[in-house]
Amino acid sequence: MSERPLAIVTGASAGIGRETAYELAKRGYRVVLTARREERLRESADRVRDLGGEPVVRPLDLAHAPAAETLVTDVAREFGRLDVLVNNAGFGLCALVHETDPQDMRDLFEVNYFALWHGCRAAAPIMIAQKRGHIFNVSSVLGKRGSPFNGAYAATKFAIVGLSDALRVELARHGVRVTTVCPALTETEFGQAQRGGSIREKSSIVRNWKRTPASHVARRMAAAIGKNQPEIVFTFTGRLLARLSALSPRLVDAMMAKYYRDMAGGW
Ligand code: NAP
Repeated sequence: MSERPLAIVTGASAGIGRETAYELAKRGYRVVLTARREERLRESADRVRDLGGEPVVRPLDLAHAPAAETLVTDVAREFGRLDVLVNNAGFGLCALVHETDPQDMRDLFEVNYFALWHGCRAAAPIMIAQKRGHIFNVSSVLGKRGSPFNGAYAATKFAIVGLSDALRVELARHGVRVTTVCPALTETEFGQAQRGGSIREKSSIVRNWKRTPASHVARRMAAAIGKNQPEIVFTFTGRLLARLSALSPRLVDAMMAKYYRDMAGGW
C-alpha cells in the first residue's frame, strides 16, 4: 500500500474542487484530479505539486455518470487505497420549473446527482474493507431550501442531502464518514457555467451578492476529514434560511416571493 493517503476530487479544474485539491495537497495527499478540461486540470496539478501533494490527472466527462464508478474503482485498485472522495462536480440551471427543458433537467441530474451516487457506490465497499475513509458530498444551501428560478438545481441538491443522510448511517459502523457540504454563494466560475435563458438575466442581481471564498469552503472540508461531522452548512444566513424554512415554510415562501419579484422586475 502507498504511504501517501489518496483522495479523489471531482470538479478539480475550478472553484471549490480546485481549492479542495490544494488543501489536500498541503496535507500531503496524493490527489486524483478529475473534470472535463484537461488543460485546467494540469494547472491544478502544478499547484498541487508545489504545495507538497502528488497530483494524478484523470480527465472525465460526468455527463455519463457511471464513469465516476469506473474512475473510483480503477484508481483505488491502482494505488491500493482510497482515503477521501470529494464528490464536488456540478453545474447550475436558472429556469422557472414549468419552463425547464426536460433534457436540461436530465443533464443536471446526471452530473450533480447520478455521478455523485456512482462515486459513492464504488467508494463504499472499498472504504468498508479498509474500515476507514471519508466521503464529502457537495450539495448546497439550495439543498435545504429551494428558491425561485432554481427548482431543478435545488432538486438535485435535495437528492444529495437525502442520499448522504442515509449513507452516513449505513457506513458509520464500518468506520467510514460521510459529510454533506452545503455552500452558500461562493466565489467560483459557477455563474459562468450555469445554464439558463432570459430568467437568468433577470435574476442577475445575485451577481452582486457577497460570496464566500472557495478556499474557505475547501479549508472547512479538509479540517473535517476523519471527524464525525454530518454536514457543513455555509454562512449564518444559509443556516438561518434552512432553519426558518423547516419552522415556517409559509414565512419563507412570502419572503422569497417578495424578494424575487422585486429583484426580477415584473416576473
Ligand atoms: P465551478 O467553478 O463552475 O466548478 C465546477 C466544477 O465541476 C468544474 O471543475 C467543472 O469542470 C466540473 N464539472 C462540471 N460539469 C462536469 C462534467 N460534465 N463532467 C465533469 N466535471 C464537470 O463551480 P463551483 O462553485 O466550484 O461548484 C462546485 C460544487 O459546488 C457544485 O456541485 C455546485 O453545485 C456547488 N455549489 C456551488 C455554489 C456557488 O455559489 N459557487 C453554491 C452552492 C453549491 P469542467 O468544466 O472542466 O468539466
